[in-house]
Order: sequence, then structure tokens, then C-alpha cells
Amino acid sequence: MRKFFTILICRLMYFLGHLIGHGSSLPGQVALKLYPNILSKVRLPQMVIAVTGSNGKTSTVEMITHILQKQGRNVISNKEGSNMDWGIAAVILSNCTLGGRFKGDVLVLETDERYAKLTFRHFSPTHYVVTNLYRDQLTRNGHPEWVYDAIRESIPEDCTLILNADDPLISQFDRDRRNVVWFGMDRQSFSVDKNVSVYDDGAFCPVCKSRMRYTYRHYNHIGEYFCDSCGHRKHPTEFTVTSADLQNGIITINNSHNITLSFKSIYNVYNILACFAACSQAVIPPETIAADISDYVLKSGRVVEYTLGESAGTFLVSKHENSISYDQSIRYILDRNEPCGVIIIVDSVSRRYSTGEISWLWDIDFELLNADCIEHIYLLGAHAADLETRFSYTAIPPEKLTAMPVIETAVNEIASKNHSRLYTVTCFSDKAKFLSKVTVK
Ligand SMILES: [Zn+2]
Repeated sequence: MRKFFTILICRLMYFLGHLIGHGSSLPGQVALKLYPNILSKVRLPQMVIAVTGSNGKTSTVEMITHILQKQGRNVISNKEGSNMDWGIAAVILSNCTLGGRFKGDVLVLETDERYAKLTFRHFSPTHYVVTNLYRDQLTRNGHPEWVYDAIRESIPEDCTLILNADDPLISQFDRDRRNVVWFGMDRQSFSVDKNVSVYDDGAFCPVCKSRMRYTYRHYNHIGEYFCDSCGHRKHPTEFTVTSADLQNGIITINNSHNITLSFKSIYNVYNILACFAACSQAVIPPETIAADISDYVLKSGRVVEYTLGESAGTFLVSKHENSISYDQSIRYILDRNEPCGVIIIVDSVSRRYSTGEISWLWDIDFELLNADCIEHIYLLGAHAADLETRFSYTAIPPEKLTAMPVIETAVNEIASKNHSRLYTVTCFSDKAKFLSKVTVK
């Protein structure tokens, strides 16, 4: 009876919340208050896929959901923002019968990396994808090693891990386990021999702390590594990007499955690869996955096309407090190699909490923007002066830089410059502040 009423209350609150346009984790919070271990009483489907890691969670969950739905599976997933224990409880309970039976065939969960150990106290995923571990939200998360420890505590004994073999930190999760599916990427034309980013989180072996050696790196600490001291090394991969042509947007998995990219970025390649590995566990044929994910355009709004005055613009959603996310946007702009203006906005550092912590600006490889194709760089938002200070430590000529704290005034001025192409790089927290002032296509 207690289960019945808890689910009823959660479903009613969830329904009413969506009716007034306020989806939130409140129904889950109330349900867990009324019945703390209710999730252990729910009959979940045979396949529960969890996705965690620093970057790529939302995109990977969306693509897995898309492919499984195309194959006729009844898939229920959560959205970014409801990826902590309360939000996940709300999604599960509001999709249950009052008797506690989950209504979908597959549950796909984006899981906050720090909250996963709370989320999986009362139920377990059958498959657990870990995408990568980077410096991310220092204020909340601390260092990647801390996040590693938090994720490790959340991994149930009997689930199948789906791991990025190219990340030396994540690769430690396999110790003493057999049920691991590995994915990774072979050396490509864009791979490099040495670390070229501002800092090196892969300099030392995460197991024994000796200096790590690399055969190649795709970016930052992601690549083929080995430790002479303890033997920690990149694991052979079952799902492998054997070739990747980012200029033309074509990748090949396991030498036989070609996928065309709607977004030509190395980070998108990894998300697709994680999705490919996860959907293979759902016994979807590889050729079907490749066909269904080719040219797929993410709905989660990571790339938005706009116009400002006479200029065509591309808005690249990045993550504040996450330098690799910024590096990925900067590399995408440079790969296009066309004359352009670049707008960088740091107004609110976080959506979740109040912080003025901007040390992460010093981790971003802004030096890359010292390129002929970059006509001008506009630094916008409350932290425009911090950005200006950071850029003063690059070799970018000062005349190419303009700092403008007020976004509205800045947008009007940029419109008058008539760049043939603009790129805007900022976070979810500042997305609407810019897009509300331009014409979104
Ligand atoms: Zn070692």
C-alpha cells in the first residue's frame, strides 16, 4: 500500500509539473522521503543502461535512445538536469504502473558522476557506460581522481561495464572484472605524439604514479598509453574507430561500418562509439546502428545556427568550468578554416550554484585562436575582463580583441561588423542571453 501511494503521489506531481511546464526532480524528492528504498521495490526492465562521465553523457543517451526506439523498443530516458538521484527517481516512478512495474522495455539513464553512488543504492544498471574523466566543475567536483573514486563506489558487482579504453583513468575500473566491453580509437592523422594542451592530466600513471608513456594522443590524455612500471596500458578494444576523416565527416568502426557525421568533431566520434558499443549489447546489428546514427542531428541543442545582421553564425554549446569542452569548440572552429569572428561569453559561471571561480579559463587552449582565419575575438559577459586578462597571456594581437561586459550592447556592435561568419562559444547558463538577441534558424 505504501508503494502504491508513493508511486501515485509521484505520478500526480510529475503530471502536474509537466502540465504547468515545470519538469523537476521534486516528485522524486518527495517519493524518496515517503519511501526511501522504493526503487528497490520497482520491477525494472531487463536492460537498464546508465551513462556517466565528465563529457558526452547527454549526447550519448540521446543517440542510444534514438537507435533503440528506431528498432521498435519502448525506451524511457531522463534528460540532462534530472540526472541526480531525485530526478532519476522521478523519471522511474512516473513511468511505473501503480503496482510498481516499469512500463518501458529499456531504461536509459544519464547519471551525474558524483551522484551515481546514491542513485544506485537501491537498484543497479545492467550496463554502465563511462565516457571520460576530465577537469570539470572544480567548485563541485574537485579533481578527476575524486570523481573516479565516486564512480567506482557506484559500480555494481554484476553489471557490464562499457569503458573508454583511451582514457587511462577510466581504464582502472576493469581491475578484477571480466564483464567489460572496451571502445577506443586507433591512431589517426590528427593524433599527436606529445601532449599539446595547456596542462597534462595524463602525465602520470593513475595506478602507480610513475611517469606514463604514450604511443599517440588524440587530445589531452586520451590516446594509447602504457606504464613501464606497473603495466597499466590501453586495453584492446572490441569497438574501434579504425579510421576517422573529420574534414569530410566520415568514420569507420571495426574496418567495416561507415558512419557520416552531422557534427564533425572528435568528441562526437567518441559519443557515437560509446553509443555503438551500448546498442550492440542490446543485440542491434552493427550495420543497423551505423545506418541509424549516420547524419543524426542531436536534439539536445549543442549546435545552433543563427544570423546576426548580415552574418551567419554557429552557436557551439560548451561547458564553463570544463576546459576540454572549450578546447573542442575552438578546434571545431579552426578545422572549418574560414574567415570568422569568434564570440566568447562568460557571464554566469554555473547554473547550479553561485561561484566566481574562473581558474578554468587558464586551462583552455586559447592560444589556438592565434590563427589567420580568426578576424576578431569578442569577449562578453560579467567576466569579460577576466577573459581579457587570460587572453593577454596569449600571443594574439591585442587589436584583435574586444571586451564588452554587457551582452546586449555587444551583440548590436558585432552585428555592425558584418563578419561573413561568426562562432559563439559559451555554456548552457549563458545560452539564452545570446540566442534571445539573434535570429535562430
Ligand atoms: Zn603504473
